[in-house]
Amino acid sequence: MSMFQLSVVSPDRIVVDEVAESLVAPGVEGYFGILAGHEPFVSQLKIGALKFRDAGGRDQKVAVAGGFLEASGDRVIVLADAAERAEEIDIERARAALERARKRLEEKDVNIVRAQAAIERALNRLKVAGA
Ligand code: ATP
Repeated sequence: MSMFQLSVVSPDRIVVDEVAESLVAPGVEGYFGILAGHEPFVSQLKIGALKFRDAGGRDQKVAVAGGFLEASGDRVIVLADAAERAEEIDIERARAALERARKRLEEKDVNIVRAQAAIERALNRLKVAGA
């Protein structure tokens, strides 16, 4: 099975930089898969789970909060608004963010779209972390 180099970069750090065998990403129009040698391709990402199989055949998960993915031959680059590997996710923090955002929605004193996006990010982190 041929491999590709996967980089997931968020504004503050490099989250993933390793060789991968396959990838499934949360495109704005639905989840899509990528293998090595994919034709050049760019997609916008929504909040969701990015899953990849690493060079050792292990399945790994990363929570992404939107961004862009570019695939070209033996390289896939994800520029994410925020991203965390499953094992890096602070579950208590995500639960607190969820509660805060739900309260803001109830109080109706807010930007509803922002509060809903915060809820989606928190639920996604909890799901990816298996909480
Ligand atoms: P919070 O209100 O807890 O900051 P948020 O959804 O507003 O949540 P983001 O703006 O998406 O947070 O992310 C800000 C930074 O914090 C990013 O670097 C992101 O990777 C990190 N981050 C946010 N929530 C968590 C979490 N539960 N565990 C680990 N890192 C997190």
